Amino acid sequence: MSGDNCIFCKIIEGKIPSKKVYEDDEILAFHDINPSAPIHFLVIPKKHLPMLSDASSEDTQLLGKIMLKIPELAIQEGANPGQAGGFKVLMNNGAEGGQEVYHMHLHVLAGKRVGN
Ligand code: 5GP
Ligand code: ZN
Repeated sequence: MSGDNCIFCKIIEGKIPSKKVYEDDEILAFHDINPSAPIHFLVIPKKHLPMLSDASSEDTQLLGKIMLKIPELAIQEGANPGQAGGFKVLMNNGAEGGQEVYHMHLHVLAGKRVGN
């Protein structure tokens, strides 16, 4: 169920190259092409959901799995552990939410103070 002309579906299919952080049968994580922090990667479901607003109760397990995978991947990519370290998780939803790519994704940012 890939989205027509969706660049993230093309990344999942390997038609557009990416620097992979993690992959399994349901999830892909890869470095953002235009990083906003020393560590900046995106975590996406392989299922083409345009935005969080399009998710439903049938996606509960998938979204929970993505959230729970993020701390492990952040440490793997070099985020400092514990309360003194950390990372930021961000998701844009819709045009007014700042979304540019309509395949749902979480940004994970770390490696400097990225909090407000
Ligand atoms: P959004 O504004 O939709 O939340 O963020 C989209 C993100 O996708 C941006 O940070 C942008 O740099 C990243 N991005 C857009 N096209 C590509 C691409 O082809 N490859 C990778 N790795 N990242 C991309
Ligand atoms: Zn897609």
